[in-house]
Amino acid sequence: MYSDKAQGKAIIFSAPSGAGKTTIVHHLLSCNLGLEFSVSACSRAMRKGEANGVDYYFLSVEEFRKKIANKEFLEWEEVYTDHFYGTLQSEIERIWKKGHHVIFDVDVVGGINLKKIFGPNALSVFVKAPSIAHLEARLKTRSTETPESIARRMAKAEIEMGYAEKFDHILLNDDLQRAFAEAEQVVKQFLNS
Ligand code: ADP
Ligand code: 5GP
Repeated sequence: MYSDKAQGKAIIFSAPSGAGKTTIVHHLLSCNLGLEFSVSACSRAMRKGEANGVDYYFLSVEEFRKKIANKEFLEWEEVYTDHFYGTLQSEIERIWKKGHHVIFDVDVVGGINLKKIFGPNALSVFVKAPSIAHLEARLKTRSTETPESIARRMAKAEIEMGYAEKFDHILLNDDLQRAFAEAEQVVKQFLNS
């Protein structure tokens, strides 16, 4: 279990790609709840509209491997071949030192691992789309992925859906405004507990 003198709380959002977790996390960040986004490191290419140090710390595969060897990650995963993603220990310390709570947008296995690390100090939320077909449609609408990338994400999504019960809360993202309201309610309740 993680222990740090400056420890705040941790909110973990996980979901299969396309379920809407990034959209919901961005909404929560705008709600003045004292949350700060944990910027992960990753080795994929930057998408249009993304910025280094804001959405991710964009690293080469070699740079990422070096940080693994230096034990700089709290958790990391090769989410897709040669696409490494990980949470830097320094990121959590930076956020907690400021007196903020940390919010994560990580894949399903990463979310389960982070919950194990932070224990009762963390709330883990699984964002669920109404169906697998909705996931695919949302990824197509987002227009950030190639057809191959969408196929890879869909194959993984089937497996990830099976992990939903391991999370503290399952948030159905059917209507976005309704999902925003439910997300705010569960996060506020946890932060005030
Ligand atoms: P994730 O971070 O889980 O991969 P995103 O937040 O990027 O998912 O959402 C995927 C796409 O679906 C985005 O284009 C987003 O605007 C859209 N989206 C999110 N929630 C909904 C919803 N409830 N209904 C329809 N579209 C949605
Ligand atoms: P994307 O390429 O769509 O930004 O992210 C792909 C997947 O990697 C998403 O499910 C995203 O949540 C996940 N991810 C992002 N950062 C991390 C991280 O630090 N650790 C883990 N395990 N997964 C992450």
